[in-house]
Amino acid sequence: MTPLDGTPGPSDPVETSGSGCHGGRETMQAAARAAGKSETMDRLALDYPRGPHDQPQSMCPAFGSLRVGLRMRRTATILSGSACCVYGLTFTSHFYGARRTVGYVPFNSESLVRGQLFEDIRNAVYDIAKPEDYDAVVIINLCVPTASGVPLDLLPKQINGVRVIGIDVPGFGVPTHAEAKDVLSGAMLRYARTEAEQGPVQRPRNLVEDKPTVSLIGELFPADPMGIGAMVGSMGMALAPQIPSREWRDLYGALDCSVAAAIHPFYTASVREFRAAGRPVVGSGPVGVEGTADWLDAVGKAAGINPSVIDETKARFLPAIKGGLAANPIKARITLSGYEGSELLVARLLIEAGAEVPYVGTACPRTEWSEADRQWLEARGVHVQYRASLEQDLAAMMEVKPDLAVGTTPLVQKVKELGMPAIYFTNMVSARPLFGPMGAGSLAGIVAAQTAGRGRYAQMVEFFEGVGVGDSAGYGFKGVAPDRSAAREKFKKARSASTKGDLATSMGT
Ligand code: SF4
Repeated sequence: MTPLDGTPGPSDPVETSGSGCHGGRETMQAAARAAGKSETMDRLALDYPRGPHDQPQSMCPAFGSLRVGLRMRRTATILSGSACCVYGLTFTSHFYGARRTVGYVPFNSESLVRGQLFEDIRNAVYDIAKPEDYDAVVIINLCVPTASGVPLDLLPKQINGVRVIGIDVPGFGVPTHAEAKDVLSGAMLRYARTEAEQGPVQRPRNLVEDKPTVSLIGELFPADPMGIGAMVGSMGMALAPQIPSREWRDLYGALDCSVAAAIHPFYTASVREFRAAGRPVVGSGPVGVEGTADWLDAVGKAAGINPSVIDETKARFLPAIKGGLAANPIKARITLSGYEGSELLVARLLIEAGAEVPYVGTACPRTEWSEADRQWLEARGVHVQYRASLEQDLAAMMEVKPDLAVGTTPLVQKVKELGMPAIYFTNMVSARPLFGPMGAGSLAGIVAAQTAGRGRYAQMVEFFEGVGVGDSAGYGFKGVAPDRSAAREKFKKARSASTKGDLATSMGT
């Protein structure tokens, strides 16, 4: 079914079923564009500018979108992608406690090439879109269906009142799983905004009508919204529903806010929708004394709060934060890297508590909503690296030789191999409050415990001395495993061969 203008139709996808994360960004992008996805790829490139590496260095980006869908009530989330990707994403979702089913429309080379996959997705959507069960059905195109041009935009926009949201979240277009959260949040906000513009919509749960409200953007530790709520409450404001939301009707409540707070600074598509709804957006977050003071000023001003009320609020909360930081000092040299988007805020908190932080790397891009944090950190001599690659994070850690490295899994692994203390950023951040008085003393304990245990790391290195590392990792009956890195080089060459003929030649078959 090729449209008359010659562009590929649902029945004419490009064959990409043998590619994936390792297929090469350029190859996959070219395939997606050839298959009619140029507009999508341009939008993604604009919203999520690429980094120094050409493939995801953390988990599959689509996990971010999947997680946002799975956390919403009365929302069905369906993946369209290779079985291996779906297996990994399903596993990860349940590892992180998803209590909802991950839907999957399988395909094979034939159903992909013949366009049957699109028909299968449409049938699956019709099957599941029951208004008694769901408010929305989300379909997520992973790498191969995106590169093959599976046209989710041709799905009906709603079926019996159940909204249908189709999004492309390819690893070759969305650099991090953090930004993938924004892809779905932004698509949902756009849909909800359009509904609200067309007429009356369902009343959000706990709608606040008698006060100005602030909608927080970003997945926060559960106690943080409560702490922030107390501070804005003191200014006569209340919290609107948060983004990503937990329920469809919360999207209307969020859009109805007086001011949106981009606490996580990578929600570009979501911010676009708040702005389209006429809502002012402020960046940074209420972290430490200075961050909290600036944030309360910005939010209060955007919501039209009387400056004297803002000052009273600051006078009430800032001393508590100052006291919390003073009572829980951090005396350590720390490097920080992560892909959550809150790295700059965490660095501010550590520095206000007394830590020396020479380097902060974030896999997220530079945006206007982290600009105040970047300036604050750089004024204190911190090197801020946006779109940091693992190699940059490692180089910084090697140069700084910190008392504690906070980072991603591969970085922590490397640091521990060197006999130095390291902890995962995600575990440290997602399990603690960061903002306002509650956040003030939250990081000191874990930093002290880890740096005090430095000797243990050195002991471990000594204990494992003589066991293979790198390409000879492992120890068996015959001693250290032999180094077989030559085989990897051989397969690497084979993979990069551009045609099947070249592939067969280089493999010696
Ligand atoms: S969907 Fe995710 S796991 Fe699958 S090929 Fe793309 S980036 Fe890799």
